[in-house]
Formats: sequence, structure tokens, C-alpha cells
Amino acid sequence: MNIILFGPPGSGKGTQAKRLVAERGWVQLSTGDMLRAAKAAGTELGQRVAAIIDAGELVSDEIVIELIRERLPEAEAAGGAIFDGFPRTVAQAEALDALLGERDSQVDAVVELKVIDEELIQRLVKRAEEEGRPDDTEEVIRNRLKVYYDQTAPLIPYFDEQGKLKAVDGMGSMDEVAASIAAALDKK
Ligand code: AMP
Repeated sequence: MNIILFGPPGSGKGTQAKRLVAERGWVQLSTGDMLRAAKAAGTELGQRVAAIIDAGELVSDEIVIELIRERLPEAEAAGGAIFDGFPRTVAQAEALDALLGERDSQVDAVVELKVIDEELIQRLVKRAEEEGRPDDTEEVIRNRLKVYYDQTAPLIPYFDEQGKLKAVDGMGSMDEVAASIAAALDKK
């Protein structure tokens, strides 16, 4: 099973991905986590992407596609992947379709978490206080939302045309959203 958790920054993708990992044993593939780990470790890749992440811009498609490609065997062995924060551009989505196709696999469902902007900003500001992520300052948060609407939201019709899009209300509590995701995934 390959699931994309889709939505703007702060919509709860990471939180819900972790729940699916715990409940279903699938593997979370978060390009944001992978890039932050590379940055923290000071690898060559980390140094190359640090300023881009801190500004809330997107790193190049080639970089994130390669990060995902490397992790697909592990997800396949676990019986499923939850893509979190990837794909973020149409080129990334096309590359994912091709990579999975080569492995006789496919994206099974795209769960779109719908949350209004005001709530997203509130959640991200709160996360900034709790975790101190350098890209959670108000200015960068606004840029990340703009980048989402400009470059990532155009994926919604792409997934819809494939008949894979399942919109879920992301405004409720963590448990409520998890229940809505489970219902969307398990609906025959
Ligand atoms: P996230 O934790 O998913 O919000 O990602 C944090 C940052 O990592 C983003 O603001 C981008 O700079 C970068 N990033 C993560 N995933 C991608 C992706 N799929 N494509 C391009 N940049 C990404």
C-alpha cells in the first residue's frame, strides 16, 4: 500500500503519518525529515540545502526524488509507504509514478488534509515555540504557505484525474482526523 499524505505545512501530515506507522507498520517517508537530518549531520547535501530550507523554498526535484528512490525498497519490505511532504511538484509526482511503476507498484491513495490558513499559521507558530525549527518563523511560515499554494496545490487536480484523491477534514482533534483517514483508506 502506498499512501500520499498531502496538505499544506501544519496540516498534520507528520503526526498522522506516525500514527499510521504505529497502527499499520508502514514506513513514513518524509523528505522534510530526511533533509533536516542531512542538515543536522552537516553532510554535503545538508550544507547544499540548508539555506533553501531555512527560507521555506523548495529544494530541487532531483534531490528529493533521489532521497525517496533510496528508501523505496525498505518501504516495500514493510508492506507500505506513507509519503509525507512528497511529492510537492508535478515533476515529483510524475517521478514517483515512474519509480513505483518500475517496481510493479503504484500510489494507491492520496489523502488531502484540509485545514484553513488561519489555523495553519496558529499551529506553526505554536510548533516554533515548542521545537524551534528555523523555518517556523512567521515570515518563513507565510512564504512556505505561498510556496504550497503556488507549486504544490496544482497537484490536487493531478491526483483527482487519477481518481486517487480523498479529501479529509483536518481541522478536528488528532484522534478525529486519524479516524477520518482510516475511514477514507478502508472504504471499499
Ligand atoms: P516539511 O518538513 O515537509 O515541511 O519540509 C521542510 C522543508 O524541506 C521544506 O520547506 C522544503 O524546503 C524542504 N522540502 C521537504 N520536502 C520537499 C520536497 N518534496 N520538495 C522540495 N523541498 C522539500
